[in-house]
Amino acid sequence: MLVLGAGLAGISAALALGGGYRLVERESRPGGLCRTDVRDGFAFDATGHWLHLRDPDTRALAHEVLPGGWLTVQRRAAIRSHGVFTGYPYQVNTYGLPPAVAAENVLGFVAAQLGEAGAELRQRVPRNFEEYVLRHLGEGFARNFMFPYNEKLWTVPPAELTIEWMGRFVPRPTLEQVVRGALGLEGDAEGYNATFLYPREGGIETFVRALVARLPRTPECGVHPVSIDPIRKVARLSTGEEVRYRAVISTAPLPDMVDLVGGAPAAVREASRLLRAATVTYVNVAARDVGAPSWHWTYLPEPGFRAYRVGSASAAVSSLAPPGFRSFYVELSGRQPVPPAEAGRAALDALLSLGMIESPEDVKFAEVRTIPQAYVIHDFVYGSARAAVREWLGERDILVAGRSGSWEYSSMEDALLGGRQAARLLKR
Ligand SMILES: Cc1cc2nc3c(=O)[nH]c(=O)nc-3n(C[C@H](O)[C@H](O)[C@H](O)COP(=O)(O)OP(=O)(O)OC[C@H]3O[C@@H](n4cnc5c(N)ncnc54)[C@H](O)[C@@H]3O)c2cc1C
Repeated sequence: MLVLGAGLAGISAALALGGGYRLVERESRPGGLCRTDVRDGFAFDATGHWLHLRDPDTRALAHEVLPGGWLTVQRRAAIRSHGVFTGYPYQVNTYGLPPAVAAENVLGFVAAQLGEAGAELRQRVPRNFEEYVLRHLGEGFARNFMFPYNEKLWTVPPAELTIEWMGRFVPRPTLEQVVRGALGLEGDAEGYNATFLYPREGGIETFVRALVARLPRTPECGVHPVSIDPIRKVARLSTGEEVRYRAVISTAPLPDMVDLVGGAPAAVREASRLLRAATVTYVNVAARDVGAPSWHWTYLPEPGFRAYRVGSASAAVSSLAPPGFRSFYVELSGRQPVPPAEAGRAALDALLSLGMIESPEDVKFAEVRTIPQAYVIHDFVYGSARAAVREWLGERDILVAGRSGSWEYSSMEDALLGGRQAARLLKR
C-alpha cells in the first residue's frame, strides 16, 4: 500500500493499516498543517490549531498516545466591530455594540423568523449561503457580520457558496438566545468549539510526533511521487525508485492527483480545473506582552481590516511564548498569496488597531507564511467536479482522504477519521 502525505490523515491511515505500507511525505518532516515552527522560545502552529474531539475513538487515541499530555482550554473568542470586542458567536453576543447595530441584528432576526419580510424564504430550502443567512439569521446579522466576514474568508460572495459545508460551523441560535445576548444576559458557551484540547508541551506537532511514534514503519520524508501508472500500479518516486503498490491512499491536494496519474480524460481534467480554493497568508508575530485583552482569536469582519482573523496562541496556552511576551497570528485570505510586505503591514495595522501591541517597537520578530489551498471553495460546481475526480481516481484504486486529499472544509479530527476510514476500506 502506498500512502501519500504524512499529515494527520496519512498518519491515521498508516496506523489503521498497521503495516504493509510505504508512507511518503513531500516535506522534510511529518505533520502537514499540524507542524509547529519554533523560534526563540515561541512556538507557532499554522495559525490556530485547536483540537475538538467528538468521536470517542479519536478521543481515546489522543489520550492513549499522549497520556496526561493534554490541556482542556475554555474558548475565549471575540468579534471586533464598531471599535469594540464582543464575544463569539456574534449571533448571541451583540451586547456592547452600538445600540442601533444591536437593534438592527435583533429586529432582522425577528423579521426573518416571524415577519412578513422573511415569509418567502421560510417557505423553501435556501438555495445558497446568502439565502441561508437571511433565512435563519436575518438582514442585520448578515450585513454586520456574516456577509463581510465570510466573503473575506472564502474570497467569493455568499451567493456563490452552497450550504452543505457549514454543518456545525455556523451556529443557529434561538430567538431567546439572540435577545438575551443583546441584553448582555447570554453566556459564551455556544457553538461547536466551546472547549478544546491542546498539548501541554510544545505545539500541536507534539500530537503528530506521538502518533508517528506508534507507526510500525516511519514516514519517508522529502519524498514524493513524480508519476503514478495506474495500469501497471507503479509509482515512480522523486528518489528515482519505482514502487509497486496494490492501492494508493492519497492525502495530497486532489487536483494534484490528476496531474500525477497519467491518462485522465478531458472531462476529469476539466473537473479538476474547476476545483477552487482560497489561499491563506498568515503572519506569525512575537511581541512584548502589553497586557492587551487575552482573546484566543478575534474575527475581523470590517473591510477596514485586511486580515480576517487575529489569534494569540500564547493567550490560550502560555508556554507557547516566553514570559513577558505574547505570540500572535494574523490571517489573510485571497485567491493568491498576499505579498509578504503587504501581509506584514496588514498584521501590524491589525495588532495596533486592536491594542494588542502599543507600537511597532513591541514586535520582536514577524514571519510571513502561506497555506495554498487552505479553504476549498464550496461553490456550485464543487460537488460534481469533486465527485468526478474522486470517482476516476477510485476506479484506479486510488482512495483519497483528509482536508486537501478529499477536498473539503474539515478539522483535524475529520482528517484522523478520514485516513482511518480509507485504510479500513482497503483492508476489506
Ligand atoms: C488556517 C487553518 C486553521 C485550522 N485550524 C484548525 C483548528 O483549529 N482545529 C482543527 O481541528 N482543524 C483546523 N484546521 C484543519 C486541519 O489543519 C486539517 O483538517 C488537518 O490538519 C488536515 O490533515 P491532512 O492530513 O488531511 O492534510 P495536511 O495536513 O495538509 O497533510 C497532507 C500532507 O501531504 C503532503 N503532501 C502533499 N502532496 C504530496 C505528495 N504529492 N506526495 C507526498 N506528500 C505530499 C503535505 O506535505 C502534507 O504533509 C485548520 C486548517 C487551516 C488551513
